[in-house]
Parts: sequence; structure tokens; C-alpha cells
Amino acid sequence: MENIQGSCLCGAVRFSCENNFNQFHLCHCQQCQKTSGSAHAANLFTAVDNIEWLSGADLVKRFDLDGRAITSCFCQACGCSLPYVSGTGKALVVPAGSLDGQPNITVDDHIFWEERACWYDTALTSQTFSGFPK
Ligand SMILES: [Zn+2]
Ligand SMILES: [Zn+2]
Repeated sequence: MENIQGSCLCGAVRFSCENNFNQFHLCHCQQCQKTSGSAHAANLFTAVDNIEWLSGADLVKRFDLDGRAITSCFCQACGCSLPYVSGTGKALVVPAGSLDGQPNITVDDHIFWEERACWYDTALTSQTFSGFPK
């Protein structure tokens, strides 16, 4: 099994996983809108022990919301989302954007669709530019 690497934005935190993910969800729940600062989280799931922290493990901060399975882990230097063990302890959740390579699977679905941002549907059909708008 090939490995895939990941890192935070500032580069202090680096990790490696076997490229062996079994689920890939775009989560539109309100908590994921907050933790991502965007429309949804993009989370890959794999085995709990499928991670090796290569650097900066001491910078990884975990936040658990009382009474909810939702969690976030992030670099204390740059705030970038990082992998964490799910609230149930059954899976390692890896934010797709933290990876520096191509995961072995593509997106399965959009979950918590009814909670999606009120502006998301029109975003899907809005104009695209390769850089800033002209
Ligand atoms: Zn960082
Ligand atoms: Zn969510």
C-alpha cells in the first residue's frame, strides 16, 4: 500500500497515512460550516491507527464540542484542519484539504444536506475563473 502525505498551511505539522481510505463525505452540517469557515467539511475516513506524525505533533490542538461527536483538530500556529480520531473512536477522520496527494477514493456523497449553507445552491452554478475575476 502506497503512503500519502499531508501537512498544514505553515508546514510545521506533517503526517503520513497509508492511502487506504474507505469513505469520503462532504459534510454540510452547521458545525462543519463553523470549523471549516466554508460551505462544508471534506472528510476522508480510514483506520484509527493509520497515521504517523512526521513533525509538529505537539502543535496539534483538539477541540471537542460538548454533547456532540463533532471534533476538530488544527495546527496551533496556522489554524489548518488536521486529522483526528472520531468521537466514537472508530475512525480516523482526515480533512481532504490537508493531504498533499491524491486519495485512493473519490467523494461518496453530501451529508447533512438539509443543513447546507443558504448560499450553496447558487454557488454551484456561478461563474468560474482560473484566478481572480477579470
Ligand atoms: Zn501550521
Ligand atoms: Zn459535519
